[in-house]
Order: sequence, then C-alpha cells, then structure tokens
Amino acid sequence: MIAVVHHPAYVAPAPARSQYQWNKNGLVRDLLLELGGALTWHEPEAMPRDWLEAVHDPEYVAEVTEARVPPHKERRIGFPVTAAVARRAAMVPGGTYLAARLALELGFAANTAGGSHHALADTGAGFCVFNDLAVAAVRLTEEGTARRVLIVDCDVHQGDGTAALTAGRADIATYSIHAEKNFPVRKARSTVDVALADGTGDAEYLETLADTLVPLLDGFAPDLVLYQAGVDPLAGDRLGRLGLSHDGLVARDRWIGGQMAARGVPLASALGGGYGIDALEVSRRHVASILALGEATAKQPLQR
Ligand SMILES: [Zn+2]
Repeated sequence: MIAVVHHPAYVAPAPARSQYQWNKNGLVRDLLLELGGALTWHEPEAMPRDWLEAVHDPEYVAEVTEARVPPHKERRIGFPVTAAVARRAAMVPGGTYLAARLALELGFAANTAGGSHHALADTGAGFCVFNDLAVAAVRLTEEGTARRVLIVDCDVHQGDGTAALTAGRADIATYSIHAEKNFPVRKARSTVDVALADGTGDAEYLETLADTLVPLLDGFAPDLVLYQAGVDPLAGDRLGRLGLSHDGLVARDRWIGGQMAARGVPLASALGGGYGIDALEVSRRHVASILALGEATAKQPLQR
C-alpha cells in the first residue's frame, strides 16, 4: 500500500498566458486511481498562514493570498496568481507536510504535487509560488515532529529557493543534483550541490548520486527525508539538459527508496518538474516515480 496525498484544489484551472501544464496533477491522480486498491488516499489541509510566514515574507504571503502579486513577480513565476492558483499554492505545502507526517508513521508517502523549489522569501519563480519543501521542513522541525530533516532534490534544476530559505539552519540540510548549465543561472548554495554536465546518462548519474548522497546521509543522519522527485532529468525533457532514460529515472528512485528503507529513514516525496508537449507522457513519468519509491520502501518496512 502506498500512501498518496491529493487535494482537488491541486487541479487549478489554467490561468491565461501560462505555459505551465496545469492538467498534470489531475492526470497523475487519474493514472494512480486506475491502480485501484494498491493505494490509500489522504487529503491535506491548507498550510496555515503562520507557517507560510515562517519561511516567506508576510507581504509576499499577503500578495499571493489576496491574488494581487505584482506583474514583475508574476513574470518570474511564469503565470498569473489567480484566486484558484493562490488556494492551490497554500494547499500544496499542506500536502507535503501531510506526506511527511504519513511517512513518519508508514515509512513512505507521496504528495501528488509540490517540489516548488525555486520559490524565494519575497517572490515565487520558475512555476513555484510557495516553497512547500522549505515550509514543511521548517514546520516539522519547529514543532519537534522531526529533529533533522534532509531535503534531497533530484530535479534537473537546482533547488535554489530551498537552499536559500533553509540556509544557516543546523536542523535542515539540502542536497541538489542538477544540470550545471540549466535554470537558475545564478545558483544558491545547498549543503551539498552536484552540478552535472549536459547529456549526463544513467550510469554516470547513478554513480555520482550514490557517491555524493551517501556521505551526507551518513554525516547528517536525518530522521526524515523530503524528496523532490523531479522527472525532468529525462533525455528529451523540454526543459532538461540531462540524458537519463526512463529506466534510469526508475533506477534512481528505487535507489533513493532503498537507501531510506535500509536506514529506517521515513521518506516523503513531492512531484517536482517534468515538461513535454504530451502532458500524459509527463504524468506517466511521475507515476512511475511514485511506484518505484513505494516498491523500494515496501520491501523493508520502517524498523522503528
Ligand atoms: Zn525542474
């Protein structure tokens, strides 16, 4: 059984002037529903405003909540922030937080949205409005639900917002493995950054991932991992620059799941990036990722 977090508000109607694939979350839900009884469904609550403001500037939170984000910020985000988009933006961090709570109980849970790793304190960026990973990690540690949270980001783009928003915290560490020449042009500093050359393929990617993540897992010893499971390192992704195959992506997520299961570390995943003309193809990548993580963690249930 895989615990899946979803909310109808994730499927916001596409605002005008948007290149972002708004039907992705609905397609992921539909593909998962086709799997039937192998999943349990969980509905999050919106992230309370106080916790959004623990990470983001209160003025920016107000701009989003009241759907009055200034045009220069909307350009950076990549779409207009309507009332429906604002509601979704508060719901998604609630989903990543709920996935973490479920993971602490069950070993693994997947949010069917999120991974909004480019959002910064006073603005969104790169299709991200609020940074669900940073907000969830800060809330979990401040509440005392988790003591040491590691955010592992395998999206092809660097997790610059997450790194910036959690910098200087001893109880949150960040790891990002990404294409060096991809967005964002100016990178932030994660606890560990791994910059890959264009076209990096399966074997080199998987070897580099293991070589760089294992020492951080050993050294930081997290009691919870939040995973940005972006599927845009796939060869041919519209916004990616790497050369992973479908099998390579699945191998990545099997390895991530297997590592956490072997260590008894709860794992909560967020969707992350994935871009292409065919939204169904992109959604299939995300579903394959969730299933690979679920299978890998089910083999060795939490030893706690
Ligand atoms: Zn990305």
